[in-house]
Amino acid sequence: MKKIVVLGEIVVEIMAVDVGQSFRSAGSLVGPFPSGAPAIFIDQVARLGQPCGIVSCVGDDDFGWLNIERLRADGVDVSAIRVHPELPTGSAFVRYDADSSRDFIFNIKHSACGHMALTDEAEALINGCDHIHVMGSSLFSFRIIDVIKKAIETVKAKGGTVSFDPNIRKEMLSIPEMRAALEFMLEYCDVFLPSGPEISLLTEADDEEKAIREILDMGVSSIIIKRGSEGSTYIDREKTIHSPSFKVEELDPTGAGDCFGATYVTCWLRGMPVEDCLRYANAAGARTVTVKGPMEGASHFADLDAFIANTKTGA
Ligand code: ATP
Ligand code: MG
Repeated sequence: MKKIVVLGEIVVEIMAVDVGQSFRSAGSLVGPFPSGAPAIFIDQVARLGQPCGIVSCVGDDDFGWLNIERLRADGVDVSAIRVHPELPTGSAFVRYDADSSRDFIFNIKHSACGHMALTDEAEALINGCDHIHVMGSSLFSFRIIDVIKKAIETVKAKGGTVSFDPNIRKEMLSIPEMRAALEFMLEYCDVFLPSGPEISLLTEADDEEKAIREILDMGVSSIIIKRGSEGSTYIDREKTIHSPSFKVEELDPTGAGDCFGATYVTCWLRGMPVEDCLRYANAAGARTVTVKGPMEGASHFADLDAFIANTKTGA
């Protein structure tokens, strides 16, 4: 089976308990939960039984070990997670508003996360993998961009594949080097996984249809647009396939896109037809939003099969 490797941040997430809660006064919090978009992604890959690993860096503290132990228990190769002797593990505090929008306070760039490096263990993991996945949220420092570029060049040179979820924070687009890194990713990726409006954030065109053309012309072979409660759409040069979402009650939206992407890429690498890849990915995304905690709703194939058999589809 093909081995998938992700490079990027591992953090803990601590959540405000009540909707509408402010971070400018004391309130109830719940956590720490293991988190970080790349960590959620790779945990979901592991639960599907696919060989996988992560290149990252955490602190030598409870937040770091919580993540390492969780990922290891689920089957992720954790040999390339560097444990930094001084810096703390990254963190994200999140609160929700009534309209289901989220507000985060991150400690990532100046935490152990910023010290991911191409250690011997990381090089061994990358040399032994078939597919690299990258999240736009991970491209937050030049050192990390450099590590990710080298990994991609290594894997591409031996015929491997690359997927990219832009997961863009708007402030990144105003920094020219970050923009260049996002454009590098588009140039090298085979599978592009934007959420709805992200499709045109990196293109000249500002409507979806023209943005799709532009991205396919850059050499991306397939685009999968995530549309939240409206399901997902696959597009390549020959065809467009829409797959409806599953009807669920949304409790915590964090992690849906990451579990969706992980499931899509795993199914695609196993050679499943596009329709099946989308159905499984939609099911993984939908299950995630029904569970509190970013990677607590990650699924095994048996969970997905039971969920698909018992859940109505919507838009
Ligand atoms: P994230 O917040 O993790 O970055 P995203 O914006 O990348 O998420 P979404 O489009 O929100 O990705 O979710 C990914 C997929 O999960 C959707 O395409 C859909 O299949 C499923 N999904 C997400 N939210 C819901 C929902 N409320 N109901 C049903 N399915 C959902
Ligand atoms: Mg996303």
